[in-house]
Amino acid sequence: MSFQDLDFKSDRARLSRSGNVAPAARTFHPGLLIKLSLVATLVMLLGFSVSNWQPSAKAANSTPKLARLHYSLELPEPAETLQQEIAQTVDEIESTPWESVTIKSGDTLASIFAKKGISPATTHQIARLNEQTKQLRYIKPGQEIQLLLDEERNLRQMKYIPDITRTLLIQRTEDQSFSSRIINFQLDAYPVYREGRIENSLFEAAANADIPDDVIMDLVAIFGWDIDFSLDIRKGDRFGIVYEELYKDDVKIRNGRILAAEFTNDGKTYRAVYYTDPTGESDYFSPDGKSMRKAFLRSPVEFSRISSRFTSKRWHPLLSKWRSHKGVDYAAKRGTPVRASGDGKVIFAGSKGGYGRLIVIRHGGRYTTAYGHLHRYARGVRSGKKVKQGQIIGYVGSSGLATGPHLHYEFRVNGTHRNPLTVKLPEARPVHSAYESHFKENTQVYLSMLRLMDRTLADNSQ
Ligand SMILES: [Zn+2]
Repeated sequence: MSFQDLDFKSDRARLSRSGNVAPAARTFHPGLLIKLSLVATLVMLLGFSVSNWQPSAKAANSTPKLARLHYSLELPEPAETLQQEIAQTVDEIESTPWESVTIKSGDTLASIFAKKGISPATTHQIARLNEQTKQLRYIKPGQEIQLLLDEERNLRQMKYIPDITRTLLIQRTEDQSFSSRIINFQLDAYPVYREGRIENSLFEAAANADIPDDVIMDLVAIFGWDIDFSLDIRKGDRFGIVYEELYKDDVKIRNGRILAAEFTNDGKTYRAVYYTDPTGESDYFSPDGKSMRKAFLRSPVEFSRISSRFTSKRWHPLLSKWRSHKGVDYAAKRGTPVRASGDGKVIFAGSKGGYGRLIVIRHGGRYTTAYGHLHRYARGVRSGKKVKQGQIIGYVGSSGLATGPHLHYEFRVNGTHRNPLTVKLPEARPVHSAYESHFKENTQVYLSMLRLMDRTLADNSQ
């Protein structure tokens, strides 16, 4: 299972402030993704069993299908109108099926075309066609390209589907040139409210409440900073979720994001609401405007184990001497993604002595994090670049002084090395004080949907 190829931009459409449906672009926060991934690992290991609940065959069987995270690359069928339009223009080659290519890491338009036997001249023609086709230089893993070729492998039509709301359509013209246009799809978002109560496991409760697994994974990601879903879940815990269902022409395409959620764990209630501030930044906040997440991930590598801890002294096998270890080592397979543990700016990306390939990120004025022994850097990550929490910045390797592939991770506060495993992590930024009223206006409708749940449950228990 791989999470590294997920497309952050595949999720679009959101509710307007009035609660009416209004499509709009937004960027998925990668921080959520890494939490999902971490949680997914736990899910696999533990099947979300509640405490004191013995792992059993039943638990194993009820392990959810993680591949169904909704921030996946599954793209919808093009809308009917597009289908019809294409059908009309391709009557003469109707029998030729569209060939579909899912873009893989390292693919370029040229490499895809070459594999499909399309001439380099055509590749050139399309790449240089106009502003719209320039985006083909930036194709990303997981996106889809569909090709309609004739018997001589001449390109007749092409569709590039960068995300769920857009398709770039390229068609051969009569003069054997090409034309292009972008077709936008609008998804309608409708909020739904569901709630559940845990008897055995979270996923069982969700299934009973008809809540899809992908929504539950999002719920776990949102509250994952406060609740350890592998250990803390108790019988009697309950939750309520307001989330979007996204429709195209009255057909449900998929679930959207969670707009507000509540989780009562062992008697303590946590609430979160999704908010986009006037500058376009989105995140989950508690009703009083605090961020639901910390400013730093505890671990920058998923699927890893700690192979060396922070110590003032340890034996160094390569140097054959005692020295301090001012970071934590995460052993992981070569090529495992390394993620920025917090939002910040890359201040160093290069080779440095025993560190090998090293990235250093500054987070505001006080904090820096360092990532050593990298196999390589992620594309576009270099000194001066801004990065987001959870963004892939490089890949685990063994460059520099390393006995095997691992990440050497350092956390510094005001220039002093601190133990990343125990340092008190600061909260992520709360809602800006200037947006307090904006925040209230735009979130109360969803929070009040949650409060309805309290009343319902209170009524039921009387
Ligand atoms: Zn180390």
